[in-house]
Amino acid sequence: MGPTSTTAGDEPRAETRSEPNDPEPNDSEPNEPESALETARRQLQHAADHLDIDPNVVERLKHPKRVHEVTVPIEREDGDVAVYTGYRAQHDSVRGPYKGGLRYHPDVTREECVGLGMWMTWKCAVMDIPFGGAKGGIAVNPKDLTDEETERLTRRFTDEIRAVIGPTTDIPAPDMGTDPQTMAWLMDAYSMQEGETIPGVVTGKPPVVGGSEGRDEAPGRSVAIVAREAVDYYGKAIGETSVAVQGFGSVGANAATLLDDWGANVVAVSDVTGGVYDPDGLDTRAIPSHREEPEAVMTHEAPGTVTNDALLELDVDVVIPAAIGNVLTADNADDVAADIVIEGANGPTTSAASEVFAERDVPVIPDILANAGGVTVSYFEWLQDINRRAWSLDRVNDELETEMLDAWGDVRDEFEARDVTWRDAAYIVALSRIAEAHEARGLWP
Ligand code: NAD
Repeated sequence: MGPTSTTAGDEPRAETRSEPNDPEPNDSEPNEPESALETARRQLQHAADHLDIDPNVVERLKHPKRVHEVTVPIEREDGDVAVYTGYRAQHDSVRGPYKGGLRYHPDVTREECVGLGMWMTWKCAVMDIPFGGAKGGIAVNPKDLTDEETERLTRRFTDEIRAVIGPTTDIPAPDMGTDPQTMAWLMDAYSMQEGETIPGVVTGKPPVVGGSEGRDEAPGRSVAIVAREAVDYYGKAIGETSVAVQGFGSVGANAATLLDDWGANVVAVSDVTGGVYDPDGLDTRAIPSHREEPEAVMTHEAPGTVTNDALLELDVDVVIPAAIGNVLTADNADDVAADIVIEGANGPTTSAASEVFAERDVPVIPDILANAGGVTVSYFEWLQDINRRAWSLDRVNDELETEMLDAWGDVRDEFEARDVTWRDAAYIVALSRIAEAHEARGLWP
């Protein structure tokens, strides 16, 4: 792909498109779902309708504080200069520094960054983490670049946004198409320019340069914790619970193996190529994870196989869509037989499907709570960087458990008090905190 002809390209990542590394295009987009920005605005308004908050605050929250658009030129291996467009959308910082991922993907746009940045604001607030929301990225297919070119791109992009990021202003993290190595380059480029080592400018780094133990596993761990609590809330023991997980990647594999460890019967898991099924429970630790061996789930010997569509409709206690966005739609929501849906991925349920689940009284535990372990351990990483003291894995996991149980309890209280959906309850918790902070701080000047 010619980069100059490209017009577009801690999380959240509502993906309806194929990942740059996907072997085949994603065709699970039956209903032309709304954009991340439309979703974020609609969910904001929906939560606001339940609350007695100043409409001016709601209006402010529908817009980003600012969006930076930068040109990122790099010299390619063949000596040509390629020019890319990068963004950093900063949505709201009333509760603390902006926080959110940087993605490298051909479809990255300004509008997408704004919408995903808003989701980060709600996610940090529902967890009561003292961060606001941001998102950024570069419209580029990372598969088109060598490692050296990716490093150059990252260093140049870092320099272009250097004035607006920093450990007390805006702290990026990995996202689609970026990884701990990308964050290490970013941290190095920023630190070199500032003249001192500043690990707290970014999270999701390798532990050797200030990354946190347990960060990779955290989103899946939080999904498992929330699934366990939800099962318990609806009166079932985890040891008697059957689970199906779509997407055996970072989030899905960690959630599935933990639930398996805790006694749940994980009967089906899948990757982009399809899934394996065992009504007596799979040995999830024996299945190659996406990181070890991408798209190898189907090589695992199991009594049966299952398509990604059929997996979502299995008669299980809990279904966890943990791959991509918009897989639960108006077309299949009526056929979902699970008693509980836990959103491992970002945005797996369209708004039409949410309405169907609400009518059917099927609880859907929302992404901004369920997979918030990632940004929560990013917050722990930031604390460790600032204090120059690493935590043990046990400490990270213990504190994550505490944070998740607190957030779960806050959302559950709203769910019970207001007779709303779990999604509305989570947004109400988040928006109340953000609006209260805005009202306390007031409008300048
Ligand atoms: P990943 O790349 O590690 O794994 C994705 C998995 O989904 C792979 O097994 C892949 O084969 C599978 N997959 C891809 N397309 C599919 C399709 N069309 N149908 C079925 N399976 C498909 O990704 P991840 O980091 O686990 O992220 C998964 C979801 O969780 C995304 O929505 C992401 O935004 C969200 N999330 C990730 C993190 C994180 O830190 N990793 C944090 C919060 C939310």
